[in-house]
Amino acid sequence: MNSIDTRKIRLVMHLRAMGISSTDVLAAMEKVPRDAFVPDAMADQAYEDIALPIGRGQTISQPLVVATMTQALELTDRDKVLEIGTGSGYQTCVLAHLCRRVYSIERHKPLLLQAEKMFDMLGLRNITAIAGDGMKGWPQQAPFDKIICTAAAQGEPPPALIEQLKPGGIMVIPVATNEHQVLRRYKKEGDDTYAMKDLLPVRFVPLLPNLASASENEGDNYNHATG
Ligand code: SAH
Repeated sequence: MNSIDTRKIRLVMHLRAMGISSTDVLAAMEKVPRDAFVPDAMADQAYEDIALPIGRGQTISQPLVVATMTQALELTDRDKVLEIGTGSGYQTCVLAHLCRRVYSIERHKPLLLQAEKMFDMLGLRNITAIAGDGMKGWPQQAPFDKIICTAAAQGEPPPALIEQLKPGGIMVIPVATNEHQVLRRYKKEGDDTYAMKDLLPVRFVPLLPNLASASENEGDNYNHATG
């Protein structure tokens, strides 16, 4: 069996072959141990380029999608970033290596608590995460240099997110129309104008309003590898 390091390097080479050219993004993905974010029983698949379940009916995104979204944000170490959909916290940790601070919102409290354990375990101190409805953004911390949403918006992005983006800022978000979802990059040019570019077809879980109730998907939790 290959060691985790070998699998990780193979994944990074695969991402590069698939068009991820930012060495900063590749290095950040090499630093974050994806195997620690997935259920124990799936740790041996953690460095394959596939999405995996993380409980509560949610998934940790496919590495190529994480890399594509991160690269599209063009992060710098001065950026203040808003993330909607903390999930396992994996994408959050990749961002945290590349920007000044990440503000992350998750509507499933048990997932948020588990993700916060990971931030502590990895010693990442530039992350602030809360349980809440990310469709409303985070007005107290706005505006943001960059916004990333890892759940699919129906039709178009929530207006609050566009509002909370700085002029010149970039937002990356999957948008669903009919049966199709596409990963879309918005660049805010003025208060009311933005440029739009479609990056690739994707399949994300839906962006849902409000905090999840305790019973929502409760029978579907997994044990994580963090202990
Ligand atoms: N980036 C995550 C993937 C999470 S899947 C990772 O790396 O693991 C998408 C997440 O978005 C789910 O956890 C889901 O609960 C969350 N979500 C959906 N709608 C939301 C909303 N309105 N506010 C906050 N989180 C939301």
